[in-house]
Amino acid sequence: MGEDQVKVASVLIPLPVPEAFDYEVPEGLEVARGDQVAVPLGPRLMRGVVSEARETTGSNRRLKAIDHVLDDPRLPERTVDFVEWAARWTLSAPGEMASAALKGLRAPRPKPERRVRRVGDRQPSRPTAARTAVLEALGERSMPGPDLARAAGVSSGVVKGLLDEGVLETIEIEAIAAFDAPDPDHAPATLNADQAAAADAIGEAVSTGGFKPFLLDGVTGSGKTEAYLEAAARALKADPSAQILILLPEIALTQAVIERITARFGVAPAEWHSGVAPPRRRQVWEAVQAGRCNIVVGARSALFLPYASLRLIIVDEEHDGSFKQEEGLVYHGRDLAVARARIEEATVVLASATPSLETLWNAHQGRYGWLKLGARHGAAVLPRVDLLDLRPNPPDPQTWLSQPLREAIGETLLKGEQALLFLNRRGYAPVVLCRACGHRLTAPDTDSWLVEHRYTGRLVCHLTGFSMAKPRICPSCGAEDSLVPVGPGVERVEEEVRNLFPDARTAVFSSDTVTDGKSARALIQSMADGEIDILVATQAAAKGHNFPRLTLVGVVDADLGLRGGDLRAAERTFQLLTQATGRAGRADRPGRALLQTWTPEHPVLQALAAGDRDAFVEAEMAEREAASLPPYGRLAALILSSENAMAVEKVARELAEAIPNAERLEVYGPADAPLALVRGRRRKRLLVRADRDVDLQGFLRVWLSRVKVPASVRLNVDVDPYSF
Ligand code: ADP
Repeated sequence: MGEDQVKVASVLIPLPVPEAFDYEVPEGLEVARGDQVAVPLGPRLMRGVVSEARETTGSNRRLKAIDHVLDDPRLPERTVDFVEWAARWTLSAPGEMASAALKGLRAPRPKPERRVRRVGDRQPSRPTAARTAVLEALGERSMPGPDLARAAGVSSGVVKGLLDEGVLETIEIEAIAAFDAPDPDHAPATLNADQAAAADAIGEAVSTGGFKPFLLDGVTGSGKTEAYLEAAARALKADPSAQILILLPEIALTQAVIERITARFGVAPAEWHSGVAPPRRRQVWEAVQAGRCNIVVGARSALFLPYASLRLIIVDEEHDGSFKQEEGLVYHGRDLAVARARIEEATVVLASATPSLETLWNAHQGRYGWLKLGARHGAAVLPRVDLLDLRPNPPDPQTWLSQPLREAIGETLLKGEQALLFLNRRGYAPVVLCRACGHRLTAPDTDSWLVEHRYTGRLVCHLTGFSMAKPRICPSCGAEDSLVPVGPGVERVEEEVRNLFPDARTAVFSSDTVTDGKSARALIQSMADGEIDILVATQAAAKGHNFPRLTLVGVVDADLGLRGGDLRAAERTFQLLTQATGRAGRADRPGRALLQTWTPEHPVLQALAAGDRDAFVEAEMAEREAASLPPYGRLAALILSSENAMAVEKVARELAEAIPNAERLEVYGPADAPLALVRGRRRKRLLVRADRDVDLQGFLRVWLSRVKVPASVRLNVDVDPYSF
């Protein structure tokens, strides 16, 4: 090394800046990409990840030096590649992306276990019968003190006495989580021909290696889960060190899938989602990094784990909107799953009965292998779907179930079967209105109505979480007892059902009644055991579960999702209602679905009734193509927000004046964002639409570099926004 050669490392630090920070590598220190280091920043030391180490000839820049290398595990090279790619794609700060990959590591380790053991062959001064029993029960082993006392049939005081005398000692054992190797042959299923072909194709792709994406496409109940578990088994047979990631959209869904994986492979997979306690997360993080753990089931954040050898990613219910993260780092879990697979040279399987238009487009173009599962497995057939036109016989005022739906529920109960009433609205009533002045209650400084919840007796803002007791006096006109609930939520439908069928056992399944894996499991179990006759549910129960005795699905308001002007309104409604109606008739009893609607001629509802997904997709694709909207074009949204309305206006104007020249790309706005006021923050939005071959991110980078956003204004960039 020449005299003026210096070693320099670029370090990703969790700060909202687009670049890594350069530091000098002190003489004698070795660092490599992925190493975790402590670096000085102002008066503090910060944790960072080395993205690059290089030698340069003496620049006169005086760089600060890396303080030391942390003894935490190194991030695998490909994890760093992924983090950097994801930051570029979403226009996020790479240091903040890297920080997402370190999440589990920041948790405390589980407490070490305390056990007692003999000290050499020391004998007690007074060998009582109790003391002898303890020493015999212990032998040469170590045991937790309470277990030892129990095994010897003595009180814990006896063990303590021996500890005090120095005959026994306490030792601490670090808990290293054991993740037993899954057994691919533990409980194999006999696949039908379509399933076997799919598992063959995926298994083949995994063992050949290289990036290979698939769409696994089959109606609900066709056995997609069974097929991808078999593919996972083949991957493990070909390479016992292979790691497999199964991404699921929601926790409520996790439990059932975890049980199936456990049954299939004889061991439970590692879980990674917000319900997992931090010390456990740390164990999973370390086991994944060290390659000691084969199967991870998780939420979208599991994409950021430091896999040692990731061979297969499965995204189940790939169309699901909850894969999109909109707070903090803004990204779509499905899109990043495909990117991660590409970087890991791995196979990725997107599974759905109602794939997103983006994924279908990729399959049509031949970019994704298209694996189709034909019919429902075994004797189960898809439910018959009928539209119930509400116009000729509307429900009575203040009720929501029409006569034909009531009759169908009654018949179902008579046969000893179960009904599910689907309404994608939490709480009792979506709006509370003053009968005297027409005022609608909203959360403070927020453009969002308060929803009445009767179980908790509160009015809740679903956007901000604000809640209050229901006032007796209208806050607008002062009238007394004038506030009335308007419209139905699941709680109100359950009330109606209980009045109509007083002997039926009813329950509500929503994110209010099912808050974690445990409560989800309990409710799903009582449904499966036939302890519930009528389940009233939001989308929380629309997918993933198999209820053999459920034969009737009633959709209370099939028009609900179709009203908004959102880009994906039709697509989302089609997917949701297909999933909801698909709950009926999963076993040997045929199912039936009734959709209450005021607009039976709507193409989405017509396609649902005809069971004709292709017709829906064709019509919707044609509309998107005509407007050059996704998947035919791309979108990005810029959301500005601040408590200072003037500051938002100013930045919005500056952005509008700084738009770079670009072809086949348009900018719309600034305009009020769909929610123009949230928690007192004014929100403005600019939208970009570009043809597919335009470098959208490049355009955004140039644009944003031209405008200085003051600290009082937050700028959120959403590339490929999910809602629009
Ligand atoms: P999907 O994931 O497509 O909704 P599942 O994999 O959950 O479908 O399968 C639906 C039901 O059929 C489940 O109860 C599953 O255990 C059963 N099943 C699917 N394939 C098979 C098979 N090859 N052998 C036995 N049972 C199967």
